[in-house]
Order: sequence, then structure tokens, then C-alpha cells
Amino acid sequence: MLVRLSVRRKLVGIAWIGVAITCAVGAIAVRALGEVQAANRRAAVAVDVAVLAAHEREVLQDVRATLYGALGSTFVPSRDGVQLRRTMAAAVADLRETQRVLAADLRGLGMSESGVELPGSDAFMQHATLLADDRARGRPVRRSDVAAFETMAGAIAAQILSNQALLQQRADTARAQARRVERQARFDLLTAVAAAVVALVGLGTLLARSILHRLQEMRATAERLTGGDLEARIAVSGSDELAALGGAFNETAESIGRLLARVEADAEKDGFARELADALEMADSEADVHEVVQHAMAKLAPGRPMELLLSDSSRAHLQRAAANVGAPAPSCPVEQPYSCVAVRRAQPVVFPSSEALSACPKLRGRPEGDLSACCIPVSFMGRSLGVLHATATNGTEWSQEEVDRLGALASQAGTRIGTVRSFERTQLQAATDGLTGLLNRRSIETRVRRLVTSRTPFAFILADLDHFKALNDTYGHEAGDRALKMFAALLRKHVREDDLTARLGGEEFVVVLPNATVDGAVQLLERLRAEVGAASAGDAPAFTASFGVSASSAGESFDEILCVADAALYRAKDEGRDRVVIAGPDEEAEARLRRPQRVGGDVADRHLDAAAGNGVPALHAVAADDDPMQDILL
Ligand code: GH3
Ligand code: MG
Ligand code: MG
Repeated sequence: MLVRLSVRRKLVGIAWIGVAITCAVGAIAVRALGEVQAANRRAAVAVDVAVLAAHEREVLQDVRATLYGALGSTFVPSRDGVQLRRTMAAAVADLRETQRVLAADLRGLGMSESGVELPGSDAFMQHATLLADDRARGRPVRRSDVAAFETMAGAIAAQILSNQALLQQRADTARAQARRVERQARFDLLTAVAAAVVALVGLGTLLARSILHRLQEMRATAERLTGGDLEARIAVSGSDELAALGGAFNETAESIGRLLARVEADAEKDGFARELADALEMADSEADVHEVVQHAMAKLAPGRPMELLLSDSSRAHLQRAAANVGAPAPSCPVEQPYSCVAVRRAQPVVFPSSEALSACPKLRGRPEGDLSACCIPVSFMGRSLGVLHATATNGTEWSQEEVDRLGALASQAGTRIGTVRSFERTQLQAATDGLTGLLNRRSIETRVRRLVTSRTPFAFILADLDHFKALNDTYGHEAGDRALKMFAALLRKHVREDDLTARLGGEEFVVVLPNATVDGAVQLLERLRAEVGAASAGDAPAFTASFGVSASSAGESFDEILCVADAALYRAKDEGRDRVVIAGPDEEAEARLRRPQRVGGDVADRHLDAAAGNGVPALHAVAADDDPMQDILL
């Protein structure tokens, strides 16, 4: 009951109870005061009564004294008798008046009038009056009358004494009663005050306990909350202000909990994003990126079916590049990037149920059955690369947080894949010849240098198209380009995967066959030469090619070996073209003669471009692999 009342009502109730108790105590005090006053008044009157009774005795004494005085005197009888009569009459009146007042006072006190009556007093007064008359008339007073008077006086005196004792006793009793009443009143008053104090303190304690106890509970809960216990809540009971305060506190704790959870989630998300960025930064190739994405999937959503579908270089087909290792891979049948809704919309798309009318058609009829999906487009600089596709059981509500996390993965993966692809493209462009797609001079030099350094034997072929100038002049530059591309394609077709093919410049090509002999190279070239002749009969104008072949042992560097092969090629041209010539001792000797002379120390070599055959000296610089001079010189 007390708990259900509001704090305001409790306080108001306590105040009213305090007022009521104060009024009750006041009433008790007033009543006690009245009783004490009444008792005191009765005691006082009782004393007065006793005093009056004493007065009766005095009156009697006066009467006797007056009478005896008159009887024994020698004054003139008549005059003395008159005086005596008057005195006696006054005494009688006084006595009667005293008795009347006494009786009235006793009545006023509610006391019995017994003890006031003086039986025989009238007869005595009458007798005294008669004696006084006798004396006034000068008649002799008989002794018997005086004796009778004395007897009556003695009886009345005794009666007066008895009355006086009785009245005195009553006065004492009244005083004792007054004291008792006073004590009782004091006791009642003190008891009432004590009871009031106990009642007020008790109620106050109850109220304080009901408020303080709950306030202390709130303080303890607040301390637990600030100490990190986010589950700490106040047990709310009743509907008073404290209950409302407790409810508000709990709501605050709830919102603090939610806020912290969000902050923690953000921190975790940031931590994951940072970790992912670090991992992706270390991924040098696209395969490395796929592996990182796979790990990230397992960490991001363990057990969640998920796959990364990427388009190939033609951007026409989507293929699975990575899948969450701890879960069966989803089997999205989408084939082309723009068949994917998420790619088309260029934003994440969530499908809660494959049964929904608005669900992606590619979610229906899956072997997994009905499901929900979240698809995030993967792009780089606005160009679509593919889609991150995750699935869950049908009807799953994808939280914004999870969609955001998948979005972060898709975004970072897209950025890294795009960067790696463009870097690889740039590297490829820097390493290859733009027209034929073969390695350029710089790349073949580098690769040959590695073979020389690793002491890997190889056969070195220098090829040159015959009368190419005439072909160009006759059929045009485009026809010449087509012939160059066709020759490059034939070269590619006839070499193995580990072999190196390069366009050195103009219509000159180099083929390096690691771990191949010169004879093996000749066999390959003969097959190639035959096919070049046959291919020339097609839409491109007919052309042939001459080849100079050298072993890697012919020199210690690319240029030295090139010089030897060049000498052999020179001989092939000289002997009538469309043939293969293996460099022999003569070519090696000739090459030594034509070997580039050092210009300015180790940095630059100079040699004649024998292949051009025009005798014009060309400046050719040689620099280390990692020397920035390379880019400038080449
Ligand atoms: P030889 O049989 O002695 O090798 O005679 P050739 O005409 O093939 O040799 P020459 O050195 O006289 O001519 C080479 C020609 O190759 C000159 C140039 O027009 C042509 N050429 C060089 N680079 C390109 C190219 O990139 N495209 C085209 N179409 N022609 C090129
Ligand atoms: Mg030529
Ligand atoms: Mg040439």
C-alpha cells in the first residue's frame, strides 16, 4: 500500500498525520490542563470550606464570649440587653450565612453537604437569644439556663470540631486528588507526546526506508553501470516518482548499451576494414587478392554461403574467383555482369525471399531451395568488375550492419583488383610491343640477362623479314603491319610456353629457346619458315624471312650473342634470304670485330647496327636492370 503511493502523496500523508497527531496531543494537553485546573480549584475550595468551618467555630466562640461578657457585667441592663440582642442576632446571622456559603460551596464542588449541618445550632442560638433578652430586660439569668447554654455550646463546639475535621479531611483528599490528577495529566501528556514522536518517527522511517532503500539501489545500479556492467538495471515496482525515475534510468542504460554496441561494432568494423586493407595491400597479384577475399569472407561471416564473381578481361563472363571456405558456395547462375541486378543498379541489393514477386529471377530454382540473398556490386573507378553474392535461409532479415560489412569487403576488393589489373596492364604494356604483343627489346634483354646470370643454356634466333621495305612500298604500311602481326602469331604458335619471343624493332624479331640446342632451333625454324611461306599466300602479301641462329655460349651478354646471331643473319641475307644460318667461328670472329666499343666506361656501348645493313653507327647504351637510366636510354 505504502509502496503504491506516490512519493508526493506519502510526504503529504506524513504531514497530515503529523498535524493530526499534534492536534490529538494538543487536545490531550488541553483536557489534562482542564482536569488539573478543576482539581486544583476543588482543592482550593475544599481548603476554603475548611477555613469557613473554622470561622463557624470562631462565631460560636464570639457568641459565648459575648454572652458571658454580658452576663457578668454591671452595665445598665436595658441598654446592654439591647446591645446584646443585636450582637447575638448578628452572630446568628453570621453563623447561618457561613453555613449557607459552606453548603453552596460543597454543592459547587459536588461534595456531600454532610458535616456542614450543625444540629442544635438553632436551639442554641435561640437559647442564647433568650438569655440575651433576659439580660436586656434585666431579668435574672438562672444558672440552669447558663448550664444548659453551656451544654448546648459544648455540643455545638464538638459538632463544629467534628465538622471541621471532616471538612479538613475532605480538603486534604481534594488536594491529594488534585496532585494525582496533575500527575496523571502529566503522564497522559508525556505518553501522548511520546506516542506522537514514536508514530512520526516510525512513519518517517518507513517512508525514508521506502525512498532511501530504492535510492540506494539506484545509486548501486548506477555505479555498476558506470563500472562497465551494461546489464545493470533497476527493479522497477509500483508507479510512483521513484518507479518513473527507475524506468527512465533503465531506458538510459538501454540507450547507453545500444550506443556502446554501435560504437563497438563501428570499432570492430573499422578494425576489420583496416586489417582487410593491410592484407589487400600485400596482395601483389589478382590470385593473392582472391585469397585475401576468401579469408575475409570466413572472418566476416563464418558459415555464410558467399562467393565473389568477377568478369574476365573481356568483361563478358562472370566467374567465381573466391568463395567462403567454411560454407557451401552459392550457385548463382548469372553469366554476364549486366545480367546481375546489383551490377545494373550499381548498389547493394537485398532479397529477403526468393519466393517474393520482386526477388531476383536468378535466385529461383537453386539446388539450395528457397533462400534470401544479398548482392553487392564490385567495381573500380565506376567500372563494374563483378558482384559479391551471399545467401542465407529463406526469409532472413539482413541487418544494415552486415550489408555494410559486405559492402566494405566488396569495395576494398574491387579497388585492389582494379589496381592490380591496371598495374599488370601497365607492366604488360611496358614489357610488350604494342603492334604484335610480343616482348619488346627491353624485356627480352632483361630475360636473357637472367638466363645468362643463372647460366641457363639457350638457343638464340634473330629473324628479319625479307624485302620488307618493298612490301611496305608496294602494298602499304597497313599491309606491312598485318605481315608483322602474322609473323608474330606464327612465332608464338611454334614456340613452347617457356620460350621467349620479342620484336626487337622494325621487322626484326628475337626468339630465345631456353635449354634448347642450335639444332633444335633450326628444326623449329624450318617448320616455321615453311608455314610463313604458306601463310604469305593468304590475304597478306607474300613474304619470307631469314634467320641467324646462335648458341648462348657465343657471348657473355645479350649484345654479344645478338652480334653473333646478327652476323649469321647477315650471311643468310647474303646467301639469298629465306633461310636459316647457324653462326660458326667466322660469324663469332666477325662479331668480335663488330662488338660494341666502350664509351665512358661501363655505362654505354656503341655498335654498328648490322641488321640494318646501312653502315650507320648507332648509339646503344647498356644499363643495369634496376637502373633508372634504362627508361631514359631505351
Ligand atoms: P632485307 O631483306 O635486306 O631485310 O630488306 P628489307 O627491305 O627488309 O630491309 P630494310 O632495312 O631495307 O627495310 C626495313 C623496312 O621495314 C623499312 C621500314 O619501312 C619497314 N618497317 C620498319 N618498322 C615497321 C613497322 O613497324 N611497320 C611497317 N609496316 N613497316 C616497318
Ligand atoms: Mg628485312
Ligand atoms: Mg631489317
